[in-house]
Amino acid sequence: MPGVSSRGRKLASFSSVTVSMRFYGTRGSRPVVGPDHAIFGGDTSFVVVEAGGEPVFLDLGTGMDGYARGLAPGAPVRASVLLSHYHFDHVQGLPFFSPIDVEGARLRIFTPEGSGPLERLFAPPYFPVSPLRYRGEISVFRIGESRFDLPASGVEVLALEVPHTDTAYGYRIEADGFSICYIPDHQAPPGLDTFDERALRLASGADLVIHDSQYSEAEFAVKGDWGHSTPGYAAALAHRAGAKHLVLFHHDPLHTDSELVAVERELAARYAPHGLRVTAARQGEVILLSDQHAAAAGAL
Ligand SMILES: [Zn+2]
Ligand SMILES: [Zn+2]
Repeated sequence: MPGVSSRGRKLASFSSVTVSMRFYGTRGSRPVVGPDHAIFGGDTSFVVVEAGGEPVFLDLGTGMDGYARGLAPGAPVRASVLLSHYHFDHVQGLPFFSPIDVEGARLRIFTPEGSGPLERLFAPPYFPVSPLRYRGEISVFRIGESRFDLPASGVEVLALEVPHTDTAYGYRIEADGFSICYIPDHQAPPGLDTFDERALRLASGADLVIHDSQYSEAEFAVKGDWGHSTPGYAAALAHRAGAKHLVLFHHDPLHTDSELVAVERELAARYAPHGLRVTAARQGEVILLSDQHAAAAGAL
């Protein structure tokens, strides 16, 4: 149909950007600093998606600090949060997130397990004040595997459990005809040769897949039941799911910039002939999903 993409998007708004995301934290397990982490960054999981409404936070890792520093002082933040699970690296930014301690601020947190773990995690003697007591409003919604609209954000969400060491969800975010899959922690199978049916559903045909790539294959041979995937497994899954762009995520704190560049280069070359773009998430990076990008990708 002239003027309309195969997925129903109007090509008339050729240069408009409809969905953006920024990586404020890309690291797994724990934050890390130093000259070997200048390119890909040292903060833990925190990604912000914007699709015309209120921002959507993917997890609450230490990358929240960089986001807070970019806000006007005293500005009340209002956002929805898709929390994958409660491991430290995914929640540790919340207690230090000063923009929520402002009248009128509001976070709606959607999680597989409700508010109990947050109350226990950030309470004396481990932390002096529960973030749920801050001046802004924090609402926690326990979700099961489901599809739902995020209020005020303009996105639809599919939430499904994925294999990990504790209960963890992956999310698929859909807005304006674009789809983003977020699976930050994913226990790959021992042989790295089968795919979880839910993970494939989340990634199916996605414009962007943000996926756990913590261990090299040598590390996976030793830590194969520690809850994570390899870059090669993430790429194989994204390819099997028919995704367009894989972003390697949840980098191991011991992996240096030069190691990550080498992994990115090797997988990008291997999968380019198959129509899958592969990059590794860099702290501070912005990815824009626009009709222009879609048209360009479609022309390849
Ligand atoms: Zn993690
Ligand atoms: Zn985890």
